[in-house]
Amino acid sequence: MASDSPGDTSLLLASADVPPVHEDNAAGRSPFLLTSDHYGRAIPRILGDLGLPPGELTRHIAWDPGIAGVADALSKHLDAHLIAQRYSRLVIDCNRPPGAPGSIPVISEAIVIPGNEGLARDAAQARRRQIFDPYHRRIAEVIRRRLRDSVPTVLVSLHSFTPVYAGIARPWHIGALYHRDTKLPPLLLKLLREETDLVVGDNEPYAVSDETDYTIPVHGEARGLMNSGIEIRQDLIAGPAGRRQWADRLARIFGEIEATLRAQRLV
Ligand SMILES: [Zn+2]
Repeated sequence: MASDSPGDTSLLLASADVPPVHEDNAAGRSPFLLTSDHYGRAIPRILGDLGLPPGELTRHIAWDPGIAGVADALSKHLDAHLIAQRYSRLVIDCNRPPGAPGSIPVISEAIVIPGNEGLARDAAQARRRQIFDPYHRRIAEVIRRRLRDSVPTVLVSLHSFTPVYAGIARPWHIGALYHRDTKLPPLLLKLLREETDLVVGDNEPYAVSDETDYTIPVHGEARGLMNSGIEIRQDLIAGPAGRRQWADRLARIFGEIEATLRAQRLV
């Protein structure tokens, strides 16, 4: 905590910068609580362009392209609370434990991030205090309030993945990502596999771990909530039509999941 640390006095976000937390449908009645760690690609003005050419700041190393539109529409369709984070993961990755490799990446997929090289401890702390902490504090507050009010809460963390990584094409259209929850992921995988046009990743293209993830371990697993990550391939949600189709499809699938969980008295 160390609220007297010099990091507190570092000016990172100014009045012209957007707040890190974006929320939609806070009064939503769905048991699903949606999060989006890589929703935006904003950069605090004081950091300029992090020393990168414009092309790098719009591709997947900076954020999860396409997921914002899917998250917004899914939140509306499900009447679910969405909590999302507007700053680029190149500033600080809100799904990495602070201090872990990649939290403030010096290199991302062979691209050096000059603005992150040799970063002073205070500057790193300021990014954590002003971007990472408010986002996770808000998720924690909302979950605490829901639990206190006995509102069923199932955490769904929304992401998108690049179709080609390190020169290898990825076959999956969508993946379910999980670690300790044994209830939601199997149900989600079963329903996704019933969509016969989809190639479904089971902990692909990534698996969740305590070392590489933050939102699911800290907000889902540590509180014993049912949870899963979802990764959608970015080329499928590059345009508004694709984002709409995927939001519609996921709304239908999560509607079925909710009905099943209610029948089992799990929500
Ligand atoms: Zn992501």
